[in-house]
Amino acid sequence: MPRGRSKKAAASLKAGRSGGEGKDAGRQRPALRQMLETRGANFTRQREAVYDYLRQVDHHPTAEEVFVAVKRELPKIGLATVYKNLEALVACGAASKLTYGDSAARYEIRTDHHYHSRCLKCGLIADVPPAAGEQLIKLIKAPRGFKVEDCRIELLGHCKNCK
Ligand SMILES: [Zn+2]
Ligand SMILES: [Zn+2]
Repeated sequence: MPRGRSKKAAASLKAGRSGGEGKDAGRQRPALRQMLETRGANFTRQREAVYDYLRQVDHHPTAEEVFVAVKRELPKIGLATVYKNLEALVACGAASKLTYGDSAARYEIRTDHHYHSRCLKCGLIADVPPAAGEQLIKLIKAPRGFKVEDCRIELLGHCKNCK
């Protein structure tokens, strides 16, 4: 979902992820620092840890889940700090935030346009390749006078563990 992030940031992220599963953290670090500093945010060890965790997982964790994981590495970190760090990463275009009404927001490292499936029982979120994305948007008629800026498609159902 595009959310005020720069194209350049998204492109460099994609470059970091492609090939060898993007586990080459060394190459990613200067990019993260640059993204944060461009938005006037500091590059801190905590932000780096939060970012690294997001890079390692593909299940779109909540702030609480990120907190539990990062706390193992940085025992002094608090949930509020993790939350702020996640928001800083989103603000600088290094991560995306998914919101679902009343339930907790989820975060992910991908910032490119893609869709999700969501399990109605356990809340698991998974990425779906936007196979027919462009065509689908054309098929949906927006209300008169409504200017479409973005489109989200979500598949709702039950994951393989909840079937
Ligand atoms: Zn499930
Ligand atoms: Zn995703």
